[in-house]
Amino acid sequence: MRLVRTPREMSRLAQSWRRKGLSIGLVPTMGALHQGHLSLMRRARRENRRVVASVFVNKLQFGPNEDFARYPRPFARDRGLCASAGADALYRPGAASMYPRGFRTHAEVEGLSELLCGRFRPGHFRGVATIVLKLLLQVRPDRLYLGEKDFQQLMVLRRMIQDMDLGVRVVACRTIREPDGLALSSRNAYLSPEERAHAPRLFRALLAGAAAARRRGATPALVRRAMLREIRGIPGVRIDYLLAVDPGTLLEPAAMGGLRGVLRLVGAIRIGRTRLIDNIPVYCGE
Ligand code: AMP
Repeated sequence: MRLVRTPREMSRLAQSWRRKGLSIGLVPTMGALHQGHLSLMRRARRENRRVVASVFVNKLQFGPNEDFARYPRPFARDRGLCASAGADALYRPGAASMYPRGFRTHAEVEGLSELLCGRFRPGHFRGVATIVLKLLLQVRPDRLYLGEKDFQQLMVLRRMIQDMDLGVRVVACRTIREPDGLALSSRNAYLSPEERAHAPRLFRALLAGAAAARRRGATPALVRRAMLREIRGIPGVRIDYLLAVDPGTLLEPAAMGGLRGVLRLVGAIRIGRTRLIDNIPVYCGE
């Protein structure tokens, strides 16, 4: 596995592969890798001749009071994991090479970026869209591997790729969970043992919401209430949102019917200083 450190070196390597007709899969990450990330890399390995995994803690997507400084950066471990998952290149650019002095251009996906997490993390999706656009232009992969765990991010990036004719196929990969249901996340490492014990309740709330959504006479308000019941009472918890949304628009439907039967239950809560997000699909009305 080759370690690549600059956009120039990355573009050249990817170009040499394309000239040989080798397909390329890109897996962007912020490192502190876990089985969720590795499942993306293994899928990319199966579907492409060359796999690029990137590790870049993107300051642009963190708010001023968020965890950029303390975000875990276990690089030696990440490097070993990328190699074992079969990546051909580990792309780890420095911040100065990604955002050199004078950098002024951003990618903004209107509408979708302002909902849900966007309301609580202004500028977050602009930062995500900007870095992923840069990575796509540097690597020019055939396929981009993204986790459903970050469902809004997936929708924002799909929109950008379609709107800007980027011509890369998005491969959405299912969420990998702990045995107790907690979605794997690099941020789970922040949880104290007591907080960790409460954390699976976010997934349980989504399951309760799904059961409520499938009931006859379900309404968005009833589904919301079913989810809230599971979360209330966790010590130190703050709920950013718990909603049933149309997966295309990310808006809460006026009623449960008429949505091609599919809704997405989405949630974001804070336990202590740690923000957790999760989501599941629900097929209602059958
Ligand atoms: P991150 O390092 O958090 O920016 O995540 C990098 C990629 O891994 C994103 O596409 C995430 O959606 C995906 N990802 C993160 N956690 C999981 C998980 N538990 N299961 C599947 N994919 C995940």
